[in-house]
Parts: sequence; structure tokens; C-alpha cells
Amino acid sequence: MHCTICSQPNIEEQAVMDAFYERVGFCPECTHSEAAIQWREAKRRKDKSYDRYLRLLTVGRPKKCSYCHTENYLYPKRVGYHSDWELCCDKCSRVDYQAMSTKDPSHAPLLSRLRVEYDAFLKKEHYPDMTRSLETMNEEWAQGTECSCGGSISIAAKPRCICCNRILMHSFFHYADAHPPQDQVNQERILQASATKKH
Ligand SMILES: [Zn+2]
Ligand SMILES: [Zn+2]
Ligand SMILES: [Zn+2]
Repeated sequence: MHCTICSQPNIEEQAVMDAFYERVGFCPECTHSEAAIQWREAKRRKDKSYDRYLRLLTVGRPKKCSYCHTENYLYPKRVGYHSDWELCCDKCSRVDYQAMSTKDPSHAPLLSRLRVEYDAFLKKEHYPDMTRSLETMNEEWAQGTECSCGGSISIAAKPRCICCNRILMHSFFHYADAHPPQDQVNQERILQASATKKH
């Protein structure tokens, strides 16, 4: 196998594989290079599914509610270094950020099934309707927390507007937040700082 950017051969051992295309890899020097960014940009102009994939994985993508026009930010679930899976309320905009965790062995089988559906949703433009299968998983999980709004925190809930609670996007794999990514990072820092103070 050779590096897609610099054509260096035999990079099997150290290759960073592309998450979307099979058998596409980069050498460590190229993976975060300007040339790799341009390669991805050129690819997404040609390939609609790749463009959709990158758009779905954008962290904190701004999304105006079409009913009340409030700006929301959409986050793909389970990105970054944490191992938790966020769940939304099925009636309001509340998000439980640590509802499911890979650290909890009782969640592991459901999380691996969720990952399969997530992958299909991200990579296929025409994915099958997943509502039934996610509702089944939610019943199996059977730990649904009641929300103060009367709804429940559910595996089969979609992101809702922080202002009017209407569905923002038909995805079981995203949640909505009032803050863009930078603010979120700052918020996490503030939380960490206050947590450190307590100890
Ligand atoms: Zn290279
Ligand atoms: Zn709720
Ligand atoms: Zn709204």
C-alpha cells in the first residue's frame, strides 16, 4: 500500500487509514498536511456521499430552527476522546451527555449495535429507516430516564431546538446544543476547573 498523498510505498505498518474510503491510507507525515486537506476537499466536490459524510461529522454545525429561527449547533454523537454516548429527550431539547458508556459492560452490546447503524447512516445516502430498530434497542435498554418535561431520554430520540423543542434534524446520531464548539470547550474547561477546586 502506498500513501495517497506522497505515493511513498509500503506504509502498511504506520498508515493512517481513511475513515470513509476503503484501502485509502496516509503516511504519518501526510495525514494532517495541507495536501491531505486539499485532497479531501477535491474528493468531496466529486463525491456527494463523501461530502454528506463530512458534513454529518462536523462538530457544532450551525442549524437555524425553521420554526422559531433560533440558532442551534448540531454535534455528532460520540466523537472525541470520551467513551460516552449522548441521548436526547423525545419531547424537549434536553441531552443526557453520559447516558450510555463503554465503561459499563451492560451497555456494550447495545453500543456496538448502535455503532453499526451509525456507520450505515453516515456512509450511505440511502440508508434504511432505522426508527424500528432504534426503538427496539431503547426497549431493550429499559433504563430510560424520565425527563422533567414529561418525555423520556431515549436511544430513539432526535435532536430538538433549544428554544421551541421541535425536531431539528432527522438523525438518531446527533444532538443539539446552544453553544458553538469553542464555547463548549471553554465550558468544559470551566467545569474542569471548578471540579479541581472542589478536591
Ligand atoms: Zn505521504
Ligand atoms: Zn424533556
Ligand atoms: Zn425552534
